[in-house]
Amino acid sequence: MSAAQSITRPANPAVALVIPVYNEELVLPELLRRLTAVFDGRPDCDWSAVFVNDGSRDRTALLIAAQSARDSRFKLVEFSRNFGHQAALTAGLAHVTQADAVVTMDADLQDPPELIPGMVTAFQAGAEVVLAVRRSRQETGLRRLGFELFHKVFQKLIDFPIEANTGTFCLLGKNAVAAFNLLSEKHRFFPGLRAWVGFKQAEILYDRQERAAGTPAVTLHNLVRYALDGLFSFSHLPLRALTYAGLLTAGLGFAIGLFFIIRRLLGVEIAQTGFTTLVTLVLFLGGIQLIGIGVLGEYLGRIYDEVKRRPPYIIKNRHGFE
Ligand code: UDP
Ligand code: MG
Repeated sequence: MSAAQSITRPANPAVALVIPVYNEELVLPELLRRLTAVFDGRPDCDWSAVFVNDGSRDRTALLIAAQSARDSRFKLVEFSRNFGHQAALTAGLAHVTQADAVVTMDADLQDPPELIPGMVTAFQAGAEVVLAVRRSRQETGLRRLGFELFHKVFQKLIDFPIEANTGTFCLLGKNAVAAFNLLSEKHRFFPGLRAWVGFKQAEILYDRQERAAGTPAVTLHNLVRYALDGLFSFSHLPLRALTYAGLLTAGLGFAIGLFFIIRRLLGVEIAQTGFTTLVTLVLFLGGIQLIGIGVLGEYLGRIYDEVKRRPPYIIKNRHGFE
């Protein structure tokens, strides 16, 4: 029996949205309006939206709690402080145990909610994971350059394929969500874990919008950290590259040493100059060794974080859950 035949989908699926929010009071009214329109346009689905407030310092939580009181489809989980986008996603996924499918998305309307019904249709047709693939993006300058460079280099470095030009925007069937919830690692790179989990995939192309209002909540510094998390948790290449660099320099050192020993045995006079050569070699090798320690440190720090087994987030309270 083929995979497609074995899949039966409910006629009225329960679809839950997971939306991390951090200081998003400016976009929330528009987001809530557009989500409600999408929900009302597909009455065949049982909709809910779980917002995870990641320690916002503005009126974000207030606005969502008010919406939750008006409309029980909207729910809110509040963190005790800011734990980061990835922790918020993890918490959201842990809170949607009743859903047939879960859509993860950003709050800033860079991921247009109007795409969701199409994702649900693909899910109904049998896909367990539906990816929203960016056909284009609006970011400019350093941020755009960073994104493009990251996606290009990253594809070359990782140990198994992760779809390029995807982010958090996707639909996960409940089996994929269950698999996801089993993963306990702390340094999370969502697109990588999604590829790692597997399952039958479908894709929907879209043009990534500009942020509807406000400034990006994820700082450039955090983006770099996120990129490094992606690299170090999905690639052993940095370690392997060090081994190769070590082998190369050791081989070179051996050859040069042999060359001078033979010259000495043949009675060739050793000149007293060579200061420049020595300084260059010492600094170069010292540099390589320090890079090596740095790379080891990146892995070691992550191992340390994992073995401490601290929970990835602490919840302050919940609104709209029974
Ligand atoms: N976000 C979060 N915690 C943070 C930073 C961001 O929950 O510490 C949320 C934010 O509210 C948004 C999503 O994560 O819904 C993506 O953030 P942003 O738009 O700043 O990231 P970018 O679009 O630059 O990747
Ligand atoms: Mg954004």
